Order: sequence, then C-alpha cells, then structure tokens
Amino acid sequence: MSREDDFVLDPDPGTDDLFETSLRPTNLDEFIGQRSVRERLGIYIQAARGRGEPLDHVLLYGPPGLGKTTLAHIIANELGVGIRMTSGPAVERPGDLAAILTNLGAGDVLFIDEIHRLHRTVEEVLYPAMEDFALDIVIGKGPSARSLRLDLPPFTMVGATTRAGSLTSPLRDRFGVVMRLEYYDDEDLARIVRRTARILDVPVEGQSAHELARRSRGTPRIANRLLRRLRDYAEVRADGSITPEVARRGLDLLEIDDLGLDQNDHRLLRVIIEHYQGGPVGVETLAAALSEETQTLEEVYEPFLIQRGLLQRTPRGRMATRSTYEHLGLAVPRGAGEDQVRLFGDEDVDGSR
Ligand code: ADP
Repeated sequence: MSREDDFVLDPDPGTDDLFETSLRPTNLDEFIGQRSVRERLGIYIQAARGRGEPLDHVLLYGPPGLGKTTLAHIIANELGVGIRMTSGPAVERPGDLAAILTNLGAGDVLFIDEIHRLHRTVEEVLYPAMEDFALDIVIGKGPSARSLRLDLPPFTMVGATTRAGSLTSPLRDRFGVVMRLEYYDDEDLARIVRRTARILDVPVEGQSAHELARRSRGTPRIANRLLRRLRDYAEVRADGSITPEVARRGLDLLEIDDLGLDQNDHRLLRVIIEHYQGGPVGVETLAAALSEETQTLEEVYEPFLIQRGLLQRTPRGRMATRSTYEHLGLAVPRGAGEDQVRLFGDEDVDGSR
C-alpha cells in the first residue's frame, strides 16, 4: 500500500501546505463543527483576555487533518498574540527549544505539532517553562557547575498529537486544557466543502457537497483535497461545475467507495477476512502482510475503520465485524464479530493496544 497511489485519502498534509494555509479559518466563528471544543475554547479565551492573562496550555489530540493546526492559529488570533510553530521531531536539542522560548513575546502562542515525538531531554526543558515560565540552565561542569534560572515571558503552549497515550504523564499533566477532536459528521463536512468551494470559486451544485462529504472519512483535509480533484475532473470532463453526476463519476474514478474507503482499506479488510478467517490477527502481522508500517496502519487506516464499525481492535488482535462482510458484499459467516461502533476513545487515537 504505497502512500503515493492513494495520496488523495492520506490525511497527512503532504505538499498541500500552501493550499491549506489559504483555506484556514482564522477565527472561532468561521471554524465549522467540533461544537463542544469551539464553545469551551471560546469561553477560556474570553476569560483569559478579560483577566489580561495568558491562556492555560492547551493539548489538542485526534487523528490528522481534523483542524489542530488551524485551531492553534485561531487561538493566537483570538487572543491577539503572535504564534511560533514547530514540531516534536524538529526540535533536536534542549538549546533549540531554549532559543525558541527566549524569543517568544509576552502572551505568545507556542505551537508544537507531534508533541509526543519530542526528545526526552528537550521535554525536560519544557516542564519548568510551562509551569513557572522559567528556564533552568546549568553553567560549567563538575563540582563548579551551578544552575541558573532564567525568567521567560508568560506564554501559551498549544500541543498537538495523534497519540495522546504516548505523552509522558509529566508533560500531559502540565496542560490545563485537554481537548479531543472528533471526526466530522457529513453535515459539517458538507459545510466545509461549500466554504472551500466559495474560496476557490468552484460551482458546487445540489447534493454534490454531501456526496463529497460522505466519502471524506470525516476529515476536512481529505474533503478539501477531493474537492480539488473534482474541480480538475469537472473542468476537463464537464463544463467546470461540480454537479451531483460529475461528483459521482469523479469520485468513482478515484475508486473511493460510498463510505470513503479506497483500495487500500479494501485490501486491509480483505486480508483479515481471506487470510486470517476474519481475525483476530496481530497488527504487526497485518502490517507485514500488507507491506505497510504498523504506525501507518494504526494512525491512518484503523481509526476511521474502527469508528465506522468495520474493524474491531481486541486484546488478541484485529477482527472483521459483520459490517465488514456486508460492506464488502461477502457472505457473513456464523459467529462473525458483532458490530461494535465504538466511540472514539483514547486508546483508539493513540494506537495503544
Ligand atoms: P491537523 O493539524 O489536525 O492535521 P489542520 O488544522 O492542518 O489539521 O487542517 C487541515 C485542513 O482542513 C486545513 O486546510 C483547514 O483549513 C481545514 N479545516 C480543518 N478543520 C476545519 C474546520 N473546522 N472548518 C473549516 N476548515 C477546516
């Protein structure tokens, strides 16, 4: 399952950066869906502004493409402060983080994407920084070494992660606000599609926005990307308008089924059914059978399949459900795993087994 041939459904940004920046809502009112997150954030931001204090540190978690980076920008914008962005793997040494922290303006937002991937030594610099707005530095070596505490401007840390369970507890405990982003329902995704279509000036007619939303795996990044592919299709094979018929034909050409599953999802489910009699099968075995990284299976494919009740994660491994057989048009064997449309819990997002 190479990630190139299914680029369209990959919830990772890839080369979309410029495109995404132009589509990012800039304030909470423009941010569609995630009602509870939006409401709570709105209250905390207003309260912090009212008191003239920085907002508590915020941890956002959930699958890729649901709006974590966008929310970090919105938080900074609503607070009227600057934002500095980096990511866990990009901060290699404690000194790199110290440089970033000492350059923050008072009240600024520091956004660290993939925060679960911070090096341990770097993470330790964060503890006093987040708790006391201070930097502890050690000068000298051996017996003459001494520690010096440097004050930092107060700031708001916004961390984003797809694996909340992989965060160390000292780090997780330092976030005053922890919020989980959920997959979007079709209604909200259709609104996002219409908003993007307006910005890109593409005519989207009738139920097309819904058709597209339905096949976007609950993920705005995928919805926006599919819209771009449909725009190409509409311009070349039709008169430029995305009518329901154009949407259907364009999406079929991309081999995305009614639920938004592509060929790779089908392969994954079929391997469980055809090679392992419906499971349980361990994720490592499954990854090897598909020539795919375990992490990609856990973070990219599985969360959505689980959420749709097409896959079950059990202590003994992955299992097909009744819905898996039905969706693939296969006869349901006696005793096939019962449907369990599970709500998205920590263990699903962070990939723990
Ligand atoms: P994440 O950081 O969680 O991977 P992003 O914040 O980069 O996701 O969002 C991916 C894309 O989806 C962005 O282009 C953004 O404009 C769009 N998007 C995400 N959430 C929303 C939303 N609630 N309303 C409108 N657009 C959204």
